[in-house]
Amino acid sequence: MNRNPLVTDIKYLKGVGEARAKILASELDIHSVRDLLYTAPSKYIDRSRFYTISEMTENLPVIQVKGRFVRFSTEGEGVRQRYIGLFHDGHSMMHVTWFKGIRFIKEKINTGTEYVLLGKPSYFQRSYSFIHPTVEIYDPAKPPTGLQGIYSLPETLRRRNITGSTISALVAQVLDKFTDIPDTLPSEITGMYHLMPLRQTLQSLHMPSDTKTLALARERLKFEELFYLQLHILRYACRRNSTMRGQIFGQIGRFFNDFYHNALPFPLTGAQKRVIKEIRHDMRTGLQMNRLLQGDVGSGKTMVAFMTMLIAIDNGCQACLMAPTEILAAQHFDTISVWAEKIGLHVQLLTGSTRAKARREIDEGLLSGKINILIGTHAVIEERVQFENLGMVVIDEQHRFGVAQRARLWQKNSVAPHVLVMTATPIPRTLAMTVYGDLRVSVIDELPPGRKPVTTLLRYEENRHQVYRAVHSELLKGHQAYVVYPLINESEKTELKSLEEGYQQICEAFPSFKVCYVHGRMKPAEKEHQMQLFVSGKANILVATTVIEVGVNVPNASVMIIENAERFGLSQLHQLRGRVGRGAEQSYCILMSKQKIAALTRKRLNVMTETTDGFIVSEADMRMRGPGDMEGTQQSGIAFNLQHANLANDGQILERARKAATDVLAGNPQISDSDTTTAFTYDRDTKPLPLSAGSLHILAGELRLRFSGQYDWGRIS
Ligand code: ADP
Ligand code: MG
Repeated sequence: MNRNPLVTDIKYLKGVGEARAKILASELDIHSVRDLLYTAPSKYIDRSRFYTISEMTENLPVIQVKGRFVRFSTEGEGVRQRYIGLFHDGHSMMHVTWFKGIRFIKEKINTGTEYVLLGKPSYFQRSYSFIHPTVEIYDPAKPPTGLQGIYSLPETLRRRNITGSTISALVAQVLDKFTDIPDTLPSEITGMYHLMPLRQTLQSLHMPSDTKTLALARERLKFEELFYLQLHILRYACRRNSTMRGQIFGQIGRFFNDFYHNALPFPLTGAQKRVIKEIRHDMRTGLQMNRLLQGDVGSGKTMVAFMTMLIAIDNGCQACLMAPTEILAAQHFDTISVWAEKIGLHVQLLTGSTRAKARREIDEGLLSGKINILIGTHAVIEERVQFENLGMVVIDEQHRFGVAQRARLWQKNSVAPHVLVMTATPIPRTLAMTVYGDLRVSVIDELPPGRKPVTTLLRYEENRHQVYRAVHSELLKGHQAYVVYPLINESEKTELKSLEEGYQQICEAFPSFKVCYVHGRMKPAEKEHQMQLFVSGKANILVATTVIEVGVNVPNASVMIIENAERFGLSQLHQLRGRVGRGAEQSYCILMSKQKIAALTRKRLNVMTETTDGFIVSEADMRMRGPGDMEGTQQSGIAFNLQHANLANDGQILERARKAATDVLAGNPQISDSDTTTAFTYDRDTKPLPLSAGSLHILAGELRLRFSGQYDWGRIS
């Protein structure tokens, strides 16, 4: 029988059995031999080096010392009893203490024999000692070498008699017994990407000969994990692409050209041009476009959206733009109707507060095709809104819309409209490749010329006076100011109180200026009213919570104070900062923080003062917080339970794994049950990689094992 030893149930290993197998399964998710071998040690002991007792310092990891016990003594009574050995390493002495299993230790160890002790030095009464070290007899013929993995297990397991050494012993047993472990990656892939074979990888994961070998083993496991994740995501994308037919927008016609040649208000940036080209390409393929457009605040996404809509209109369709708030919808309407008017297109605004009569006209205009572009809030996806032929939908600031809401757009036309989702939350590329693995991502990585980067400063309570003076002089120049308070949980009364107090404080500090304020718990109408005061310039200062984070455009605002900045995430600070620096004037963002902040917090805030590049900010955010917290990941449906890879640090491995997955899919259409050649027309560097029958068998097995029924891959955008 040529059975794969990895699938062996863990209970069949010597020393496991039913009861322990149950605990391993429930506590550590270890069911099979494979699960055991894929469990990486949490730390490694350097077995090639012996420490001397005199070298011991605080904060050492587990280390090894070599020597002999000089004498033993028992101290204390009953449960307080402890067994203490005096250990001599040839130069100096240390204590070794046992609290449990004393009878066993007494029998097992003696004075005279040369031992190796593995332990973590603990400092007590001005000397170092070991408590419950691992004891091995030293064999000069076979001295320990290399690194040895150690496994830290939860306390609950120790009480049930399963410790790190239990795992070590099981791993050693398995690696000893199963010398022939079939690889989990096709040889075509391991060869092309120079990956360590699986057997050697597992050996090196648990007992690496040196740190370099360990690094190679880890890399191989990360690659494997990311490769299968990408293969899974992309396989799904292929299948969807082959079923989701889209309208073919084959021509650039009258409106696009007329606007481009005669009405463009400013020359497009290189990035805008590139992105429009990418979108045009998508809409020609006959597949439904699902594209995520990322661009920092102020990078000019609206123009890209408009020109995209023109392509749809040139091909006999209507277009629709959806924004998360009425204010944003109105702002888009103001901007876009000016552009559209110049080329004779008809634009309408539809929000919750559109009056009944106007609404009826809009309904008619949409059905008859008289309205070319509809701009609005959630109102546009209500059932009663029917189009003659909706071909293009743009969604601004995607994270405010739920997946279900977006899905309703598909039903507005017999052929699903193309979808462009725009976001100013820069998602690091590695994260986007995983979360939005089946979405095309376009990036506007260039700001329009002439922008002055916002100057960001970190200031403390004691500087408040000075900060207010600076704000005052901006106000005197006729500019406006934001003051932002963190209301992380707006249902909390105490936090609301800090906003109200802040409002009072600002009113007192700036008596000759008009101050308005908004927060998330206000009635929508009141919020609109207050916002409008600021947008129209009637109010000079807006005191607000993070409700202003998204999209508001007041180019005259040149300064923002963010209170308790240490309580915001970096990406959020960046979003907030994007509200200033929209005009031609030099703008300022002042981060106010308590005087006493932790070093890490200061480091975080310094990222803000050092760069205005949203991608750098978001990469730093991800590195400091971990990908699980990033905006957009929760709703994606992907659990971020990667076992080996770390999206924040393993971007390069992810890129290679994705390339491998793409090439494999392109070369083996049977994997996705679809015509993959059409799905990958975009990736120009795809080189189809056909696999042998044996390799395909490996892939099928792995996909089944890793993803069987785990994910329900609905359309994510
Ligand atoms: P965002 O990407 O944040 O939505 P907007 O589309 O609101 O950015 O653009 C911000 C500002 O930059 C607007 O006033 C817009 O008219 C202007 N703008 C956009 N593209 C250009 C360009 N190529 N040259 C100059 N100004 C531009
Ligand atoms: Mg915008």
